[in-house]
Amino acid sequence: MTEVKTRFAPSPTGFLHIGGARTALYSWLYARHNGGKFVLRIEDTDRVRSTKEATDAIIESMKWLGLDWDEGPFYQTKRFDRYNAVIDDMLAKGLAYKCYCTKERIDALREEQQKKGEKPRYDGHCRDDHSEHSPDEPYVVRFRNPTEGTVKFHDLIRGDIEVANGELDDLIIRRSDGTPTYNFCVVIDDADMGITHVIRGEDHINNTPRQINIYKALGLPVPEFAHVSMILGDDGTKLSKRHGAVGVMQYRDDGYLPEALINYLVRLGWGHGDQEIFTLDEMIKLFNVENVSKSASAFNTKKLMWMNQQYMKMLPPEHVAEYLKWHMDNQKIDLSNGPALPEIVKAFRERTQTLKEMAEKSRYFYEEYKEIDPKAAKKWFKSDSADALERVKAKFEALSDWNADELQKILEGTAAEMGVGMGKVCMPLRVAVTGGAVSPEMNVVLELVGKERVLSRVSKVIELLKAKAAEQPAEA
Ligand code: GLU
Repeated sequence: MTEVKTRFAPSPTGFLHIGGARTALYSWLYARHNGGKFVLRIEDTDRVRSTKEATDAIIESMKWLGLDWDEGPFYQTKRFDRYNAVIDDMLAKGLAYKCYCTKERIDALREEQQKKGEKPRYDGHCRDDHSEHSPDEPYVVRFRNPTEGTVKFHDLIRGDIEVANGELDDLIIRRSDGTPTYNFCVVIDDADMGITHVIRGEDHINNTPRQINIYKALGLPVPEFAHVSMILGDDGTKLSKRHGAVGVMQYRDDGYLPEALINYLVRLGWGHGDQEIFTLDEMIKLFNVENVSKSASAFNTKKLMWMNQQYMKMLPPEHVAEYLKWHMDNQKIDLSNGPALPEIVKAFRERTQTLKEMAEKSRYFYEEYKEIDPKAAKKWFKSDSADALERVKAKFEALSDWNADELQKILEGTAAEMGVGMGKVCMPLRVAVTGGAVSPEMNVVLELVGKERVLSRVSKVIELLKAKAAEQPAEA
């Protein structure tokens, strides 16, 4: 049996967006599931719209997602000689012909057809025209599409598809400037690269019958095709920036783990029972094209966030910390003076959904907070707060074994001795130590902020509260 070979063939005219990433993932999974190969091909024939930045961004995104390729990246612009050699050969064999029709003629033809309510298509004027042309007269090369019969193929997702050849006109395969066109290059590439399964977006389904005719004319084996449905926004309209349809790297910037995005994407249009979480190995083992949905899928940011948190909780903290480090660096948080990042992951993964949020919320472990949140101060600094803080401070100073368990005993002991609830002790302490009213468990925060910093922050707040008490009459 021939080895399965799939490819991802983006046009570098923009970022790798969520739909492209899912197509890449499905192609990659199909290859990995079958022990085959996965090829990356950059379809940069549109020289005006293709950019180096977009190519780099696509490659960076593939790497970040962990979608590794076995061959490539191949660039279509480097293969023009090859395409043109095939076109010359097709001309010689009569599989293609030169078309000298002027733009004016084609425009007039289109207008006439539209007036009659017909689909605009080339009328085959130059197909069998043998009139003489001077060597400098511009021409395009057209593929001699069969006029009779139908093109049939079995789409692995959408089932049998049949199109009458009469519906397809003679496709231009080389422009008058000598450059080959997209639909032609794809066929030559897929054939030369030995692609057995073409998995791509549904927007290409109309190209497939045309491409199949070219394979057949050239006597090349026709690959299997699978056209993946569109992704819509959660309001059912075309996915746009508004729905979060941004480049894949934006998801890194927004604090998602690549593992979570991959899992989210695999589920967006494919399923295995009602299972939601798949390890990469499970995905590879279970993925099949038959279970890819025929209907459009709706992108849902809430679910992606949920998935991200599942992965933050599930993956080893050390692994999550490597990704968190990127965000800490990005937010210019100096890690040299504070807890090890896996500890931050453990403290926050139950209470944050993204790494970006985790980084934002953990700044006070590494540097002094800028100011105390006035709302938190107003709510939690009460007349007995200074007393509570002084009591815990004295106990903290005496504590030699600075760990969360010992710290918890101090917090509980202090509340008991004051005859108040834990909140009366912990809330002013939380505001003093973190600058705000929301944080992970107090004892864990204390351990991670460290003895020296805790004492200095608590002392400062005690001073502050005392100064305030001196200038104001006691609270009622
Ligand atoms: N280059 C095409 C695109 O980015 C994909 C073509 C294909 O997969 O055949 O839409």
